[in-house]
Amino acid sequence: MRTGSADGAVVVATWEFGKVCVQAAVAALEKGGTALDAVEQAAWVAEEDGSNASVGYGGNPNSDGVVQVDAAIMWGADHGAGSVAALEGVLHPVSVARRVMEQSSHVMLVGEGARKFAVAQGFEQVELLTPEARERWKKWKKEQGATENHDTIGVVALDGDGNLAASCSTSGAGFKHPGRVGDSPIIGSGLYVDGEVGAAAATGQGEDIMRHCACYAVVAHMARGLAPDEACLETLRYMAQRDPRGADIAIGIVAVDKQGRYAGAGMRKGFPYACGTAGEIQVIQGVWVKEK
Ligand code: ASP
Repeated sequence: MRTGSADGAVVVATWEFGKVCVQAAVAALEKGGTALDAVEQAAWVAEEDGSNASVGYGGNPNSDGVVQVDAAIMWGADHGAGSVAALEGVLHPVSVARRVMEQSSHVMLVGEGARKFAVAQGFEQVELLTPEARERWKKWKKEQGATENHDTIGVVALDGDGNLAASCSTSGAGFKHPGRVGDSPIIGSGLYVDGEVGAAAATGQGEDIMRHCACYAVVAHMARGLAPDEACLETLRYMAQRDPRGADIAIGIVAVDKQGRYAGAGMRKGFPYACGTAGEIQVIQGVWVKEK
């Protein structure tokens, strides 16, 4: 179990590529931003990175060759949540999710409705499919492969005022069925925040995560007193017990609690996550349920 900096502010993100995202989040906090600003800024970095084949611009398209993205944000201070699913043509879906939370009476918008909302909110329409991703799609089409490996940027943060927030953003399973929605925009599955307890965000096969409401479970375990690492492991163990594949499902979760303790945990060994405080940003290997 690790503990954050003295002022209590800490940001944790999924995967090694989460390191630059955490850097942006810590910079946002240092400029006086809240945990909500921090998790939004963190997701931006992955969303606009054209070399990241799993998130936003540059992400793998669906089977029709169209990039459809899922994103969500949650704010512990008022238990606010917003999300978008199967959204096309917007560079920063996490910010559309934030607008859904702050500027609409809804929590979730999908597909064309989400795109129209984004346009009405002033978001520019862009092409998210890069030439490289198009080539990968063409190759996949020729070979008629399965859906591809994928990742999500999932971020949790606690700011110096004790506010908790979480975000996640992904282009989902590569070459997925058009309209397929993963766990990331599902509140309680891809992310969850209880402002009095803690926050969690997940990555891995969305279908597996959402069948177990994984992030809600992690926060519920923290609410009954478990530290973040044990709360994640307890959730993963439960999933492995219920699933016929046991622990052979690829899932990673990051979590932080109100005290600033944080953790990352994978079903299998080898889930790296990034964490940062004002003083230090590092990539750490998460704890795990199964060795291999
Ligand atoms: N959870 C995401 C999804 O299923 C992708 C991932 O994190 O691997 O859409």
